Amino acid sequence: MLIGNGGKFSPGSRYSLSSRAKRLAPSQTLALDARVKALQLSGAKVINLGLGEPDFSTPRHIQKAAIAAIEEGFTHYTETAGIVDLRKAIAQKLWRENRIRYRPNEIAVGVGTKQILYHAFQALCNRGDKVLIPTPTWTTYVEQVRLSGATPVFIPLAPPFKLRAADVEKKISRRIKVLLLNSPANPTGAVIEKSELQKIGRLARAKGFFVVSDEIYEKLLYKGRHCSLASFGPDVRAQTLTVNGFSKAYAMTGWRIGYAAGPEWIIRAIVALQSQTTSNAPSVAQKAALDALLGSQEPLCRMFREFKARRKFLVNALSRINGIFLTPPEGAFYCFVDVRRLFHGKLRTSAEWCAQLLREKNVAVVPGEAFLAPGYVRVSFAASLQELRSAVKRISDFAHGS
Ligand code: PLP
Repeated sequence: MLIGNGGKFSPGSRYSLSSRAKRLAPSQTLALDARVKALQLSGAKVINLGLGEPDFSTPRHIQKAAIAAIEEGFTHYTETAGIVDLRKAIAQKLWRENRIRYRPNEIAVGVGTKQILYHAFQALCNRGDKVLIPTPTWTTYVEQVRLSGATPVFIPLAPPFKLRAADVEKKISRRIKVLLLNSPANPTGAVIEKSELQKIGRLARAKGFFVVSDEIYEKLLYKGRHCSLASFGPDVRAQTLTVNGFSKAYAMTGWRIGYAAGPEWIIRAIVALQSQTTSNAPSVAQKAALDALLGSQEPLCRMFREFKARRKFLVNALSRINGIFLTPPEGAFYCFVDVRRLFHGKLRTSAEWCAQLLREKNVAVVPGEAFLAPGYVRVSFAASLQELRSAVKRISDFAHGS
């Protein structure tokens, strides 16, 4: 649903919203979350599998670092790009884990990955430019690209939703300015094969487009090792913005810390935009993020083991439901499920299917429409095994009309 102008003012009135705001489609996942919270407040026993955030608490040592920062009075504005220690620690991480060398002045820390992406598109795109986005996709990219004045050009993918260089090549035109990559992906959990990533890097060089590579789910990978596009040599690195954050890996969604690493000319633009919008990411949260990188990684391993067990359970349990089809996710914490065979001629869309599931069985999942993939639903396994067991039972009853 678009914002519209609320119907309050006549078109052309000086009191109407901008056309930019009117065209904006608010986040459907956040809207679903608000609806679930309202239902839960009214006493309904809703199992929420719509969540895009780990259900774990932020590890204790990270919390303690934030408390220490407050007690030490580290509560003022910081450098716009983020504190130097954090940017140094991110640079070390990117070299150690991703084999990409960045200097601290090639890194910008922002208020969550979402804000970093918003500024990246603002920094890169002009009206008339085109941005390639593989679908299914997290629609924040689509709205942010539109807000920058550019036009999204979609690359529709079929299961198993793994982007190949040939898919990109088919869509290349003169106006393509940016390719958006998200591997592992939200909502499909698909991972781009290393060999394809390498070819995409070569294509970017040959055709001269820029790549924004959102790698926020890199730590949640159930098969193989994560591979960063920018690690394929200096030429590819020069045309890539590597984007990441602390929300998913460290269960830090509320702290709002994300970052971008890339050539200095684009980082400078992102920092300039930040200087006129948010000033800096919260000082205390930056200290917490620093501790996340420098402190023990054991809590992260524990969370990963738990996600792995839940994934195994959910993939098996959902696959056993007659009429449900899914490709096991290779990364992230979502199963992306084809429910079209469960419409039984009565329902027309996955949005209707999800609404009915919520109404009748108190289970919240996100309709594929929220990811430009009607007919599918996204089932998050950022919930306990016990909740997943009950939810699957309810979904199965719903599917079989009992
Ligand atoms: N990128 C992807 C693919 C996501 O799924 C999300 C959140 O759902 C984000 C970025 C935003 O993360 P952050 O909390 O750092 O803004």
